[in-house]
Amino acid sequence: MTVLLIWIIRILVLLLLARLVLRLIAAGRSAPARRQSARGVERAGGTLVRDPHCGTYLPKSRALSIGTGAETQYFCSVACRDAYGSKEGSNPFAKRV
Ligand SMILES: [Zn+2]
Repeated sequence: MTVLLIWIIRILVLLLLARLVLRLIAAGRSAPARRQSARGVERAGGTLVRDPHCGTYLPKSRALSIGTGAETQYFCSVACRDAYGSKEGSNPFAKRV
């Protein structure tokens, strides 16, 4: 009789532990995912700009730029800049000697 009682207690403890673990896993998955979903382009490190050729976002300070004022375009690499320029046809950087 006591053996049966010990087994029942063991099973109950295991069930409680399993519930706790499942709750912790569920909380860990949902909480951090929601925070960073809809953040804007502005960040603490500076303005992020979008490479119009490949679509990559990168800090303005590290981007290659062409044009001035409102028509400035920013690129992640020389390859992207040249590829975009040759597509547009009006980019002086795209012309090769
Ligand atoms: Zn790029």
